[in-house]
Formats: sequence, C-alpha cells, structure tokens
Amino acid sequence: MVSSEWSIETKAVQAGYSPKNGEPRVMPIVQSTTYKYDTCQGIADLFDLKAAGHMYSRISNPTVEVFENKMAQLEGGVGALALSSGQAASTIAVLNICEAGDHMVALSTLYGGTFNLFKHTLKKLGIEVTFLDPDLPVEEIRAAFKRNTKLIFGESLSNPGTKVLDFEKFAAIAKEMAVPFIVDNTFPTPYLCRPLELGADIVIHSTTKYTDGHATSVGGMIIDGGTFNWSNGKFPGLTEPDDSYHGLRYVEAFGPSAYIVKARVQWVRDVGCYMSPQNAFLSNMGLETLHLRMERHSDNALALGRFLEKHEKVTWVKYPLLESDPNYELCKKYMKAGSGVLTFGVNGGSVNAEKVMNALTLAEKVVHVADVRTGVLHPASMTHRQLSEEDQRRAGVLPELIRVSVGIESIDDIIKDFDQALQQI
Ligand SMILES: *Cc1c(COP(=O)(O)O)cnc(C)c1O
Repeated sequence: MVSSEWSIETKAVQAGYSPKNGEPRVMPIVQSTTYKYDTCQGIADLFDLKAAGHMYSRISNPTVEVFENKMAQLEGGVGALALSSGQAASTIAVLNICEAGDHMVALSTLYGGTFNLFKHTLKKLGIEVTFLDPDLPVEEIRAAFKRNTKLIFGESLSNPGTKVLDFEKFAAIAKEMAVPFIVDNTFPTPYLCRPLELGADIVIHSTTKYTDGHATSVGGMIIDGGTFNWSNGKFPGLTEPDDSYHGLRYVEAFGPSAYIVKARVQWVRDVGCYMSPQNAFLSNMGLETLHLRMERHSDNALALGRFLEKHEKVTWVKYPLLESDPNYELCKKYMKAGSGVLTFGVNGGSVNAEKVMNALTLAEKVVHVADVRTGVLHPASMTHRQLSEEDQRRAGVLPELIRVSVGIESIDDIIKDFDQALQQI
C-alpha cells in the first residue's frame, strides 16, 4: 500500500518519512546549517534547481522536510513550506502573489494578529485589504473585488469567534473572480477539516496550535493545493521571468508546484523565517497523535459547552456543534467534529469575566490556545486589545467573552473547575 492511499490517521503517524535499510526509524534532528557535496557541479545544480537536495538550512533541512511532507499529505496538497511562525506563513502566503499596488479581500473574522498584519503592515507595503463580514450577501462580496484583487483570505474556523467558513459560497466567488482562495486551517487541523477538498487553493497553519499540540514550538506552514491556474494573466510573478533567479519562470519550470517553490526559493531565500529543525522535530512528534487529540479536544469541548449552556451565571455559549449555535449546520457539513475552542459570556461583563478566570484552578490563564492543557483567555483585554472597540466587535470579541481552549484532561475535572469558579460571582 502506498502512503497516498493511507487513511488520515495512518498519515498522521507515519507519512513524510520512510527510512532506508539501517537508517534511524525516527528522523533525527539534523542540526546542521550546511551540506557537503563532492563536486562544484553538484552544488551548481542545486542552485539551478536542477537537482533536489539541501544546501543551506535557511531554505531547506531534512528534519523540516519530513514535517512539510507530512503536512502536505495530511492536507492533500502538492507541497508545503514550513515557516518560523503562523504570522510568517500568512505574510509569505500573501507576499508570494501580492505586491505594492495590489488589492486583496479578507474576512473580518480573522485572528487578531492576522488582522493587524493585513490592516496596518500590508498597508505600509502598499497592499490594500478590504475586510468583509462573511455573512454579507454574495453580490456585496463580489462588488468588493477590483481589477487588481489578487486573493481572498479566510479562516476555516475563526479565532476566537469559532465561526465556520461557508466554503461553498467563498470558493465559488474566488473561482468566478479567478483569484486563489487562501484558508487558515489552524483550528480544525486537517483531521477535522480539509479545505483543499472544499474549494480552497492554498492552506496555511499556525502549527503552534493543535499541530504541535503541546505548547512547545512556534511555527507555521503553507500548503499548496497545486490546482490554481496561475497563467490567467493576473500573476506575472509566477509566469514571467524572475530576475532574481536568472530568468526562471515558475509555472513553466514547476507546473502545479510553482507557487510553493517560488515561496521557498524567492521569499524564504530573501527574508529568512524558515522553521528550525528542533521545532520541526517537536511539531512533527505532536502530529503523531493529532487524530487522538482532536477527538478528545472536541468531545470535551462539546461536553463543557452543554454544561455551561445550562449554567445560571452564563449568558451565552458559542461552540459550533451546539444545536443552538448559528454555525451548527456549516460545522456538520464541513467538519468532522467541533475542535476544542469554545467561548462564553458571563453575567456582569468584563469585571465578572476576570473574576471567573482568576478563580479557575485547573484551567490556566495563558496567551495560547489549542494545546493539551485547558487554558482560558480574555480576548478583549489580551489578544485583541490593540484593536479598536469597533474592530473588536467585528471580530466577534465582546467584553464578557471568555475563550476556553478545552484540553484533553478528564472532562469531570474540567467541569468541576468551571462550576466552582462560576459560583464565585
Ligand atoms: C495563532 C494563530 C495565528 C498566528 O500564528 P503564530 O504561530 O502565533 O504566529 C494565525 N492564525 C490563527 C488562526 C491563529 O490561531
């Protein structure tokens, strides 16, 4: 059986690396910046991209490559590129096809860090971004596209609003407008949602979250679906000669892998931000239990959501697999389970939200989400505090909102902890 036929659980454990006779069963951490070759020609061929191989760990590394190969197989893409953070993944994914004078469309429900990057930093680089409420009617979304629009960007399950992306709606618009549909699949992971099968062209991840899953390593990943037609006249950077690479034309030379090869040999070569082998090793080890963890995270989150829904001190609960949630139908349609993040509001607004958080003992206050330990965060005063109140509301961040990253501990212990904390208000 070839690895491409494996089910996703088997891929999570084994894909990306198959040692030859006598080699280590687990890909070691190749802690080397440099690779030795016998002849000058051998190295020249690497520079010309005629031969595959590693030459310098700013651009590729054997340990990182194993992690990239596994992520590409999990998402069903033609190639992947690991970056030093999720932010770097979003940045490179955009800059690989947008330059000064270009425009892009993004959904307003994005993670706060991505929103800041798009709204303020890309603007300084001359890239204009229009943010749209994902619930707008199709005609209004269509109207936001311009002649120089190069992509549309959304999150499959938004952080922290847990809004499920309407894949059918946005994939159809992207297709009609002949631009790639880039989806941040950090929260569901490929185990719960497969954006490339749902019409996305490129997937990005903050691997810092469920991919690593243990809160040890910051990292990011871009996965190329290999299906977008870059030769439609809008993307000269992929079809015309690259002066910085002695006239290389990416589509001509690399076909369906053009986008992901360009991201590596042009952008990561020039700006750095490649993943370190140590982080790739740890993140890849995390992936080995992805399917087990995501099932338990989802079961625990649903059970905690059901408990909080009935609690007298709780005003509302949002979790995509609660029947009361507006995302319920979309979640059933596009995701295998609801993932581990839920949000709820407490009686008495921001003041009581802080009180409850301070009273929790098992659930820790952390600026993190999506690892094995249950953690809580108050987005209004933490991750989203740089946003204006209006932008906060547009991102779904209310003052009384507590975001819970439900871990894989005993659900009985988790519920007891929230119950005793809520009793104190
Ligand atoms: C955390 C996060 C990011 C940013 O990733 P870093 O690894 O922290 O740079 C991007 N998107 C989503 C959905 C996230 O949760």
